[in-house]
Amino acid sequence: MPRKPIIAANWKMHKGPAETREFIEEFLPAAPELSEACELAVAAPFVSLPAAAELLAGSPVGLAAQNVSQHEKGAYTGEVSVSMLTEIGVRHVIVGHSERRSIYGEGDEVLNAKLKKVREAGLAAIFCIGETLEEREAGKLEEILRRQLREGLDGLAAADLTASVVAYEPVWAIGTGVTATPVQAQESHAFVREVLAELYGREAAEGVRIQYGGSVKPDNAAELMAQPDIDGALVGGASLEAASFRKLIENGVRG
Ligand code: PEP
Repeated sequence: MPRKPIIAANWKMHKGPAETREFIEEFLPAAPELSEACELAVAAPFVSLPAAAELLAGSPVGLAAQNVSQHEKGAYTGEVSVSMLTEIGVRHVIVGHSERRSIYGEGDEVLNAKLKKVREAGLAAIFCIGETLEEREAGKLEEILRRQLREGLDGLAAADLTASVVAYEPVWAIGTGVTATPVQAQESHAFVREVLAELYGREAAEGVRIQYGGSVKPDNAAELMAQPDIDGALVGGASLEAASFRKLIENGVRG
């Protein structure tokens, strides 16, 4: 079965509830048509999720969180649990974004625990992996991606993976305006799919959606998404304006 692409906005630490409402009111009229060709999701900051949930209810746009605790409840000041997210209607959770890995020191073990919590709650993970420029230049691209996948996914079943999404995001392309070329991105995506086939078998690997992330814009979305192993995009900067996000989706899915 062909994989339906998924395009998700990652707003990072942008947009409180008022700006969230403004964006969604502007974007939503286009969503039914756009969502025929691809699944859509918006990852808002925690405090903006209730406002987004209210407006997105019954729409084809999924509500996503940018992070979650690996713990269920308890003395974890500042953290948010999967059950809290589920209660307000979240469907997807970004796990392992490179900013969480590099700024907040989240390693493979913690990310693996988060992925397990997300899946136990029946939510879909958007599991981010990707190499730094130093790692790529040192010839370690495959080693890094293999390690992130093996350790991050340890103990998860094939069904957890097909219910989720892997996002390949080369760290050097995130927020920098430097995009991987379609050829570079395709090579990495094909490699990711190979590793998934080693871990879960060919059939499962063929069913997993692998998004590309890293300076995806309206004018490069089409060539990236035309690659055979690129099944959508995780979008930071270009998702902050409704018009630019809409254009990016139109270009990405219609080529
Ligand atoms: C991201 O936040 O995951 C991302 C890819 O950001 P940008 O599109 O701004 O590079």
